[in-house]
Amino acid sequence: MAILGHTTNLVNANPGHGKSWTASTNGAGWLKPYAKWVVVNRPVGLIHQKIGRYKVLEWFKCPDKQLVRYQECLSKCRMGGRCEPLPYLHLAASEREWTGIPSTTQLLNGTMLSFLKITQPYAIDPDDMAFSIHGTLVHTQLENKAKELGMVAELSTTFDGRNVVDLIEVDGEEVTLTDYKTWGSFRMVKVLGIVSVGKMPDPTGAVYKKSGAWGVAGSPKMVSVFQQVPQEADSYEAELQLNRYRIMLRQEVGINVTRMRVHAIVRDGSLAVATSRGVYRNTYLIPIRMLEDEVVADYFSRKEMELHDALKRGGWTVPCNSQECWDGRRCQDYCEVWNYCPKGLLERR
Ligand code: SF4
Repeated sequence: MAILGHTTNLVNANPGHGKSWTASTNGAGWLKPYAKWVVVNRPVGLIHQKIGRYKVLEWFKCPDKQLVRYQECLSKCRMGGRCEPLPYLHLAASEREWTGIPSTTQLLNGTMLSFLKITQPYAIDPDDMAFSIHGTLVHTQLENKAKELGMVAELSTTFDGRNVVDLIEVDGEEVTLTDYKTWGSFRMVKVLGIVSVGKMPDPTGAVYKKSGAWGVAGSPKMVSVFQQVPQEADSYEAELQLNRYRIMLRQEVGINVTRMRVHAIVRDGSLAVATSRGVYRNTYLIPIRMLEDEVVADYFSRKEMELHDALKRGGWTVPCNSQECWDGRRCQDYCEVWNYCPKGLLERR
């Protein structure tokens, strides 16, 4: 697939803005309205390692905010001492290469995000990878234990070793597919449909020490009351992912899944931030509903067509939708390729 090409580099011309990363675009003209970015005409191109394969993680962001090519970092630290142990840095740099077949995760992401991550060189801050690395290690431990117990774990539903099912349990006629997640409490609130329904006196008997808008000194401290409202629950990503695995298992391996669920470990469980959102447990077992096979197939074939179309044309103009970009939160804080995307630039102005 020929998507190598000349790219135009842009740098942030607003030093007071605090965003000093170099950015580039493929010259599609998306970024012209953004006056604070100026063209410096430095070709970048893509990193084409092997025929048909691209690996575009290019830089680590050091603690002093400077960018360093990650391979240079791995061979020698440019600072006085390493910011992270070397094995951690290797794990942080271990991105999957593009093989031409989109993974389920790439298709669940917005097409803009997946397209840019496949085609544009980007930087990551190793510190930001902590939860991703932690989640991978938790997966590995759980899968190893399941194998020791003689259970079916880490089963790939496709020849390329992707689309891996975490756990399958058989109990009589019941075949349960479980997927492990490590999610923050913010995500848990959405997935479980937790809403605040009012206030009540703190069950610990705490009282206000000072008077204020919140109440009179000595009166019972009021705390939020939360409820799980099924209509508010939104686990569409997990539903699509697990239903895709369910269909693949039936079609490719001959296993008929009758029940699906997510086992979620709450990253910030038992901290004040989680309990203030109504997330009181550290782990949750979340049932995942069955979707019509047709709905799942239509979704993934549309997203696959979009991604291939973007790669063929060498550009994509539709930013991720609000579900895909978490109502802008992903663009603001969690997207590695925001600087190539019109929505990312707007969100981070
Ligand atoms: S900045 Fe937002 S819309 Fe753009 S690719 Fe990233 S997540 Fe998607």
